[in-house]
Amino acid sequence: MPESVLDCLVIGGGPAGLTAAIYLARFRRRFQVVDAGRSRAALIPTSHNHAGFPEGIHGRTLLGRMTEQARRYGAHIVHGSVTHLEHRPDGVFIATVGSKRIAARTVLLATGVVDREPALPNVPDAIQRGLVRHCGICDGYEVLGKRVAVIGHSSSGLHEALFLRTYTFDVTLLSLGCPLTLSEQERRQAAEAGIGVVEEPVARVVIDGDHVRALSMRDGNHQSFDALYSALGSDARSDLVRGLGTDLDDKGCVVTDAHQRSSTDGLFAAGDVVRSLDQISVAMGQAAIAATAIHNRLRGVPSPDEAPDGTLSFSPQDLCTCCTPSEVR
Ligand SMILES: Cc1cc2nc3c(=O)[nH]c(=O)nc-3n(C[C@H](O)[C@H](O)[C@H](O)COP(=O)(O)OP(=O)(O)OC[C@H]3O[C@@H](n4cnc5c(N)ncnc54)[C@H](O)[C@@H]3O)c2cc1C
Repeated sequence: MPESVLDCLVIGGGPAGLTAAIYLARFRRRFQVVDAGRSRAALIPTSHNHAGFPEGIHGRTLLGRMTEQARRYGAHIVHGSVTHLEHRPDGVFIATVGSKRIAARTVLLATGVVDREPALPNVPDAIQRGLVRHCGICDGYEVLGKRVAVIGHSSSGLHEALFLRTYTFDVTLLSLGCPLTLSEQERRQAAEAGIGVVEEPVARVVIDGDHVRALSMRDGNHQSFDALYSALGSDARSDLVRGLGTDLDDKGCVVTDAHQRSSTDGLFAAGDVVRSLDQISVAMGQAAIAATAIHNRLRGVPSPDEAPDGTLSFSPQDLCTCCTPSEVR
């Protein structure tokens, strides 16, 4: 029996992976999405900046709708975790999922990132209630004029604090006793912007009703905030491709070109795992580009199971040129 090789394996079923699934299904490609079910989007209480939803949309609802849309066109989405990925000399990728091995001509890595969470009890609940937040671009508008704390001890903490300062006068940077690695100039910037900086150890940060309270170790007093932003950073889920020698940047994000191609032939990446603005719309846009580039790369490779009448055996001239990158037309 000849080995069954998919056109594409999509690893990750967040906004990036599911967008790719919708496109690949409508391109009638043979592919599968394997998703471990830990999308950052599932943590979003209600997104108010995602275009097309004037009342806002819950992260899980968005993921559910995208899954339904992809399945409507026959997408095969399975729950599981890819634990190993290899690239054979013949160009075929072999992914390990539990006891199964999946062979594919191309792979789209859409595995996202993992946030480094502050050491607080029941962080998922605090995120759902909007008390702990991760992204001023996403929801800074919702803290207009409120008391806001930012946990961070490096430049990125200050940058988040300065960004939030455009929404409210009341911003405090909490380093939680970690040495603050700000330069003199950055400290001046914080002072000039009126950002409070608390460097002494905080005994505890607690969620108390609708507020976040930071208890000072020194005098036992507490400061109360309406929301706490974590600027502790995140880790790219790119370990799977380290073994392939794929180019990663200093943050571990996959380096891609304008068509979302990585340095490993046949491996594409989209969404947060690529260094860019970590937003749903960006993940979707990159996935649309990647899926189209994958389809164009595979043209002339029909999927017999899905197109028994050979409708995929077209020539490049038959392709829709409006969406085909000019250099592959
Ligand atoms: C609290 C919060 C609020 C946010 N609010 C907004 C907002 O309002 N607007 C906005 O635009 N953005 C918002 N974001 C950011 C947004 O959630 C992300 O930009 C988006 O989810 C990125 O999509 P993605 O598909 O790249 O990654 P993810 O959504 O993280 O999906 C990656 C998927 O890959 C899976 N996966 C990882 N490794 C493997 C593996 N080895 N095998 C199989 N599956 C794997 C994961 O389990 C996960 O399901 C928010 C983020 C957070 C945390």
